[in-house]
Amino acid sequence: MNDMNGLKALVTGGASGIGLATAELLAARGARVAVLDLVPDKVEEPLTGYRADVSDDDSVREAVGAAARDLGGLDILVNNAGIGAAGTVEDNTDAEWHRVLDVNVLGIVRTSRAALPYLRESSHAAIVNTCSIAATAGLPQRALYSASKGAVLSLTLAMAADHVREGIRVNCVNPGTADTPWVGRLLDAADDPEAERAALNARQPMGRLVTAEEVAAAIAYVASPAAASVTGTSLAVDGGMAGL
Ligand code: NAD
Repeated sequence: MNDMNGLKALVTGGASGIGLATAELLAARGARVAVLDLVPDKVEEPLTGYRADVSDDDSVREAVGAAARDLGGLDILVNNAGIGAAGTVEDNTDAEWHRVLDVNVLGIVRTSRAALPYLRESSHAAIVNTCSIAATAGLPQRALYSASKGAVLSLTLAMAADHVREGIRVNCVNPGTADTPWVGRLLDAADDPEAERAALNARQPMGRLVTAEEVAAAIAYVASPAAASVTGTSLAVDGGMAGL
């Protein structure tokens, strides 16, 4: 499918997991794709990596500007970079709260702020935020992470309203537990990673984790011309978790 021919896309956190699968899919569908990440050298042709930390405004402005210059503009921004946190409100320190909100929420604000002037010039402008089922599911031991993703959901709705009349669509995708290096790292830290993986699969309504490629397909859809009338929506890709 070449429905993204000629479009220019920027994917944050695009060097791993959901972001990498998204960057590769957009490129396969004809887009020219830049990746903004802490480890940009991990991406290979046809993707181009730019180093930035979404918690550092200067590095974001520089990388977004360089990517837009090299691509010749920007049509699609995928705000995907994010970090996790486990625990109840009694477990996480103020510093941990500030850090996770800084990356997961303010990271989207910074990248969007830097990209909006370029997106306004596009006749097919779309922002997609990677949210999470944690925004709405009430997951145990995820107070901070859930609050950060709840903010991403609200921010998506507010941005959709703010920019709809400028022709910029804003949507989010809410993955369930997805089989990415992030989850791999959590499993590897368990006493018995194989048993932990089996238990995690068993907790999923479909008996398996969501794949990064399945989440990428949803992100690509809301970013694509086929979704030209879709804005302010959240699309769950969670193997049925949200329905429980
Ligand atoms: P991952 O750890 O495999 O990839 C995350 C990428 O983001 C990495 O390349 C990392 O270098 C980059 N990154 C992290 N902090 C950054 C920063 N400050 N600046 C720039 N880049 C940064 O993770 P993933 O599982 O692919 O998760 C991607 C997104 O999906 C996150 O927003 C996460 O919250 C969300 N999500 C993941 C799951 C899951 O189960 N994996 C479920 C729901 C939502």
